[in-house]
Amino acid sequence: MTRKLIFTVDLDRDVNFPMEGSVAAGSIDRGEGTSPRFSSADRGLDVLLDVLDDVGMKATFFVEGRTSEVLDLSRISGHCIGFHGYDHEDLTGASTGVVFDDDGLKGILRRGFDAVSDNVSKPVCFRAPYMSCDDRVLRAVSELGIMHDSSVYSTVGAQPYPVSFGITEHPVPKGKDVNGKTIAAYLWPMHEGKRQPEDYIRMASEVEDGDHMIATHTWHMVERREGGPLDDREISLNASRVHDVLSGILDLGFRPETLVR
Ligand SMILES: [Zn+2]
Repeated sequence: MTRKLIFTVDLDRDVNFPMEGSVAAGSIDRGEGTSPRFSSADRGLDVLLDVLDDVGMKATFFVEGRTSEVLDLSRISGHCIGFHGYDHEDLTGASTGVVFDDDGLKGILRRGFDAVSDNVSKPVCFRAPYMSCDDRVLRAVSELGIMHDSSVYSTVGAQPYPVSFGITEHPVPKGKDVNGKTIAAYLWPMHEGKRQPEDYIRMASEVEDGDHMIATHTWHMVERREGGPLDDREISLNASRVHDVLSGILDLGFRPETLVR
């Protein structure tokens, strides 16, 4: 029995959201409009890399193309690198109403893939922004040579499985906590002050064998969706909670692993 902990990190524009009628995602308005911001993603990355160093594990980063052009991401070489669109597009158009034809879709994915290749390293996996993915997206991604996707939720303990076009799907776990409330691998509610590290450690303890995933965003290390930027004391508390989740799961006997070995 080998249990493996895979920590995935979406490295994208700060507090992003889909805007109706717009291809590119915005950042939540903090008084200066919805143009994309990258400062929390940048600072949060440093905070997160310190935590990873401390815990002694590598992460799998899903890097947005434009973010890789704006920020110096030489810091994450040596980690597992995936990509995450170019401008954090909703690739199926479900939330924006912007639906791409095949060439448009391929163009976006090629641009994101090339940006991350040029600025970090050649991606080996993919996660669709907003987890908005379908067979057309998977086909376009496979044509770039990507064989690993992580854009689907499944139950806790579910293992990677083959999908279309020779791609292996690595599902993001989602289950129930002791109170019957939905809990997903994303640490989002913990960053927002609504969950504790124990909730995620308990979730991992249900996995008897194979992979388990934990996920977050770098911007969420230093900024809340509700409430805005954190002060230094809050940032260090937030970092220590992420540390507790990862070290708590490793202490259960999980081995640190990346999405693509
Ligand atoms: Zn994202």
